[in-house]
Amino acid sequence: MRTLISMLFFFSISWVSAQEGIKIVSDYPGGNILVHEITKDTVRVSPDLSETNGEWFYWNFKITGIQGKTITFKFDSFKWEQIFSKFGPAYSINNDNTWKWYGEQGVGKKSFTYSFTEQDTTAYFSMAFPYTEKDLNKFLSGLRYRESILMDTLCISPEDRAIEKLIIKPGVGEPSYKVLITARHHACETMASYELEGIVQSILNERGLDYLRNNVEFMIIPFMDKDGVENGEQGKNRDPRDHNRDYSGDPIHNSTATLRNIIPEWSQGKLKIALDLHCPLLKGEHSEYIFLVGSPFPKTEKNQLQFTKLLEENTIGELSFYKKYFLSFGVRWNVANSYSKGDSFTAWAAKLPDVSLSTSLEFPYANVSGTMISKDGAREFGKAIAYSIKDYLLLLEKNALNSSGQKEKKDKKN
Ligand SMILES: [Zn+2]
Repeated sequence: MRTLISMLFFFSISWVSAQEGIKIVSDYPGGNILVHEITKDTVRVSPDLSETNGEWFYWNFKITGIQGKTITFKFDSFKWEQIFSKFGPAYSINNDNTWKWYGEQGVGKKSFTYSFTEQDTTAYFSMAFPYTEKDLNKFLSGLRYRESILMDTLCISPEDRAIEKLIIKPGVGEPSYKVLITARHHACETMASYELEGIVQSILNERGLDYLRNNVEFMIIPFMDKDGVENGEQGKNRDPRDHNRDYSGDPIHNSTATLRNIIPEWSQGKLKIALDLHCPLLKGEHSEYIFLVGSPFPKTEKNQLQFTKLLEENTIGELSFYKKYFLSFGVRWNVANSYSKGDSFTAWAAKLPDVSLSTSLEFPYANVSGTMISKDGAREFGKAIAYSIKDYLLLLEKNALNSSGQKEKKDKKN
C-alpha cells in the first residue's frame, strides 16, 4: 500500500512538472528579449531594441518549463535577416556557461526548433556566446600570474557600475612603450571579449612574449559601454550616438570622456599602439572573416598594413587571418558618412602625437572563413594579436635605432 501511495505521489509530481508552462526571461546580466507570444510548443520573440536607432541583432534569453518538449522559436516579427549566424543561434542547456552553436542544419531564416529531454529544466539561447562582467571576473580569477595585473577603475558608469581598467606593467623599471586596448564600445559585440582574453593571457604567460613583459605597459578597458553590456543592450547605433562615435566634440558618455581626458597624460610620449576590438554583422559576405578597418589617414593606413602583414604571419591557430581582407577607407561601409555622428576611437587615437598604430579590428561572431568559432579559437587568435604587437614594436624600435644610428653617423661626419 505504501509503495502504491508513493508511486501515485511520484506520478502526480511528474505530471505537474511536465505540465509546467514555458517561461522566458531576460532579467539577468546580458539578457535581452521581447516576448510576443507563447503557446504550447511555439514562442514568438524578437530582439529588444530600446536605446537603439534602427534594427540590430543582439538577443539573449533564458527559458524554463521545457522538460521533454519540442519548441519552435520564431523571430518572424523581426524584419532583418541578421538574426542567426551561419551556425544558427548559440545555446547552453541547464546552465549559462556551456555554450555551443546550434549548427547549420535545421535553422530556418527566422526560426529554429529544439527538442529538450526530460532532464532539461533551463536553457539559454543567444545570437552568440554572451560575455559580461561575471565572465571577466571568472577569467581574471583563473589566470596564471594574475597578480601582474593592476585592477583599477576607469570611472563609474551612469548606472553606478565600476568600469574596469586593467594595467599590466613591466616587473622592473619603466616601460619603453605603452599600448592601449579597448573593447565593447558596442555592447553587443561579445565575441571580441574572448579574443581579448587571449591577448591578456598571452601577455602574462606566453614564453615568446618576454619582450612585452619587460618593455611594455598595457592599459586595457574591457567594457567601454559597461551599462550596455550588463543591461543586454545593443550598444551599436545607440541613440543619440554610440560610444564609438563619441570621440569628437563634447563627449556624452562618461567612459569615453574619461579616456579622452587621461590618455594624453598617461602616454608620456610612449603610447605607440591603440587597438579597439569589434565584431561586424552576424553573417554575410563581408562579416565572416577577420579584418582591420582602414584609416582615412595615409600614414596610419600604412602602419595598419604593416600590422596586418605581421598578424597574417602570426596567425597559426584554427582561425585564419588574411591581409587581403583589409577594409580600406572609402570601401563599403567604411566611408565618411558612417562617422557623421562623431569620430571613432581610432580616428581620435590616430591624432594623438605619439601613436604609431591606431586601428580597430573586426572579429566575427560565429564564422571565420568557414571555421566555426570556439571560445578557445577566439583566445588563440588573441595570442596572434599579442605576438603581432611585439613584432610591431620591435619593428618600430629597429626603425628608430636605424634613424638614430643614421643621425649619429651624420653628426660624426659633421
Ligand atoms: Zn563595433
